[in-house]
Amino acid sequence: PFEVLVVGGGPGGVSSAIYTARKGIRTGIAAERFGGQLNDTLGIENLPGTEYTEGPKLTGDLGRQVASQDSIDLMNLAVASKLIPADRPGGLHKVELENGAVLKARSLILSTGARWRSLGVPGEQEYRNKGVAYCPHCDGPLFKGKRVAVIGGGNSGVEAAIDLAGIVGHVTVIEFDTQLRADKVLVDKLRSLPNVEILVNAQTTKVTGDGDRVNGLGWKDRASGDEHDLALEGVFVQIGLVPNTEWLEDSGLELSKHREIVIDAHGKTNMPGIFAAGDCTTVPYKQIVVAMGAGSKAALSAFDYLIRTEAA
Ligand code: FAD
Repeated sequence: PFEVLVVGGGPGGVSSAIYTARKGIRTGIAAERFGGQLNDTLGIENLPGTEYTEGPKLTGDLGRQVASQDSIDLMNLAVASKLIPADRPGGLHKVELENGAVLKARSLILSTGARWRSLGVPGEQEYRNKGVAYCPHCDGPLFKGKRVAVIGGGNSGVEAAIDLAGIVGHVTVIEFDTQLRADKVLVDKLRSLPNVEILVNAQTTKVTGDGDRVNGLGWKDRASGDEHDLALEGVFVQIGLVPNTEWLEDSGLELSKHREIVIDAHGKTNMPGIFAAGDCTTVPYKQIVVAMGAGSKAALSAFDYLIRTEAA
């Protein structure tokens, strides 16, 4: 068995493993896809100390750092399908993998991340990172002075639109429902901005492009059935972030109503010896630097647990 098993190989999981390894703890990482969301990210300009990098390059750098630590055992392409918590404090937790293997560890750090909910319309996948974006904090500055749409009029969509309106030339907010679903203060703020247009009861039907980049989108007026085209350079999809926690349902681990793993300020879950970090948790703001910080906290908490708890 491992002393610490990290499930997930994104920024959160890798940061955890680097910290536990440096305490001399025998650490396993089981990751479906090493690097996580970084694999889908082009430019990264908000990681302090690194003026500019790209997701796949950062994944490579993290991989080399992991490989340089003798006490980390990386299992890539390992998909966790079930958690069986220890039946007593200090006992071994078990993680079943899709391939049938069972990994055991006294302490677990769960860092399985999240995925953006996608629209599922033609053109969206084709133009991902070529005008279709999901993270306003990350990609907003790439659209300076340009025309963008934000799809989704909930809190995240309206926050994104307010944020983008200060950077881009023009923002069109497109909401499927008959009204925006964000908090009133946010809606009021949005309505006060001169370069924002709001379309409600509007269904996005397609993203169009010239082969290289997005040049527009199609939307349908749900009341009249009329189809419209909108010329623009960017589309921000803000219809939800889904945590990768389906495999934890029925394990007894506490999840929030958004299915995020509930953690405290130390990265502790409701189960002794099980910690969590990054986008799969209730931590506010889903960012690389946030996930890395959370990973280091969860690792130090796991160390603290191991030195204070008798093996049982
Ligand atoms: P993830 O990166 O999601 O990693 C999760 C890990 O868990 C992966 O290894 C995954 O394969 C694995 N996993 C999932 N389920 C299982 C399972 N059942 N069993 C085993 N392993 C599993 N943030 C920034 O700070 N700056 C940016 O510029 C930026 N740009 C972004 C651009 C895009 C397109 C996207 C999608 C995100 C961007 N983000 C950016 C957000 C950032 O990528 C995330 O906040 C960060 O990756 C979260 O790290 P994480 O380790 O919590 O999760």
